Amino acid sequence: MKDLIKKIHEQNVKAGWWTDLQTGESLQSTATEPAKRNVPEMLCLVHSEISEAMEGYRKNLMDDKLPHRPMLEVELADAVIRICDMAGGLGLDLEGAIHEKLAFNASRADHKIENRVLENGKKF
Ligand SMILES: [Mg+2]
Repeated sequence: MKDLIKKIHEQNVKAGWWTDLQTGESLQSTATEPAKRNVPEMLCLVHSEISEAMEGYRKNLMDDKLPHRPMLEVELADAVIRICDMAGGLGLDLEGAIHEKLAFNASRADHKIENRVLENGKKF
């Protein structure tokens, strides 16, 4: 996963997504400064991809850019690409957090079937 994050982030930096188009200034973090990308904007771009995935699933569409693949699949890939780019640019340990969260989720009470079937349990 670290390799994938590195590859995605490097490709996006090379494509100019981490450069201020008006000034040419780098928006990447430095040894002394945090990254200058707009984090809420990046988060909105992730959920825009999820919305596109939902629309593709709802209409049973194939993707327009990769027409041999379902739109659901490609838009979920777009979301993962955006998340990995954020992780790379913001220095987030996404892989470590995923492993820790999976371990946490494996033992949490509200994820157990016997609790999910209760009146106020999580139905989905
Ligand atoms: Mg997309």
